[in-house]
Amino acid sequence: MKGRVFNFAAGPSMLADEVLDELYEEFYNYQNTGMAVMEMSHRGKDYLKIFEEAKQRLYRVMEIPQEYEVFFMHGGATGQFAAVALNLLKGDKADYILTGNFSKKAAMEAMKYGQVHIAYDGKDNGYRHIPKQEELSFDEDSKYVHLCSNNTIFGTQWKTYPDVKGKILVGDLSSDILSRKIDVSRFGLIYAGAQKNIGIAGISVVIIRKDLIETPMAITPDILSYELMAKHDSMLNTPPTYPIYVLGKVLKWIEESGGLEAIESRNREKAKILYDYLDTQSFYKPHAEKDSRSLMNVTFTTPNEDLDKKFVSEAAERGLVSLKGHRLVGGLRASIYNAMPKEAVKKLVEFMDGFAKENAL
Ligand SMILES: *Cc1c(COP(=O)(O)O)cnc(C)c1O
Repeated sequence: MKGRVFNFAAGPSMLADEVLDELYEEFYNYQNTGMAVMEMSHRGKDYLKIFEEAKQRLYRVMEIPQEYEVFFMHGGATGQFAAVALNLLKGDKADYILTGNFSKKAAMEAMKYGQVHIAYDGKDNGYRHIPKQEELSFDEDSKYVHLCSNNTIFGTQWKTYPDVKGKILVGDLSSDILSRKIDVSRFGLIYAGAQKNIGIAGISVVIIRKDLIETPMAITPDILSYELMAKHDSMLNTPPTYPIYVLGKVLKWIEESGGLEAIESRNREKAKILYDYLDTQSFYKPHAEKDSRSLMNVTFTTPNEDLDKKFVSEAAERGLVSLKGHRLVGGLRASIYNAMPKEAVKKLVEFMDGFAKENAL
């Protein structure tokens, strides 16, 4: 497509060309229904087919066991920070592992609805590090352990999930869901905003073990109640119809690309190209510790802020855009989610190498 760039933004982020092509094709007149998907009634049979297919594809692609329910909800991942606490915590205590900004926000939100025990806080190391098992201390009375699988801002990611000693594991997978194969049965609940890796803004996916669906705190807004979501199959009110349709398209693309194994190996290759380069030079400084590095968000800095700025603008001139790091870390960040092609990562490394040579101090 003429004029398109490689968008390294942390989210909303790129969609695969194949997905955009299908959305474009079906835009005005979806499969001869005479309407666009976003004009359809969410109760009509054409839309219900789209909805059901997206849900079934998610079960298939992630190999979600039948003891789990899937909800499509409003309010982004941030809405789930509250929903998790309102539905599961309910005035009791939970463990929160703080590995970055979003896990901290999740903990702050939970504090409104119960007690939070901090099982680990990476603040003192600048959130460069994912804790080892022995660095975690769980509270005896906690009902669940909450973690953030991939720390979008700091560029760290859990390689394997910790042993939570029989407690319920709750995971925010907003920025790495569907980027690799995971064992869903390790979790009591997984949630993710779609706009990073699996679709567009406006929808969050919740995967919950059915036995954990119970009556939430009395003050819970209906729209955040898992009990009502289950009862109404995510259609308590009008669901985010178009984002659910886009999610279905992204899942179809993943299946056609060879499923999660193929996606994961591509993601590993892409990240390796960048990290291998970062490890063989001294101009850029990677932010995350080596064994905590994310396959999704690669964070690094140049020798100073002026050069960071120059990097961002010169990269953009070459069609490599949105490389500015989050204000909490500064520097640069390359988000290389599922839809980012390998050729773009190679192009980025070529640019980085040229920039380093030209600007060596
Ligand atoms: C982006 C992000 C969020 C916030 O998502 P919203 O959908 O904007 O609420 C939460 N957690 C993680 C890990 C994220 O990357």
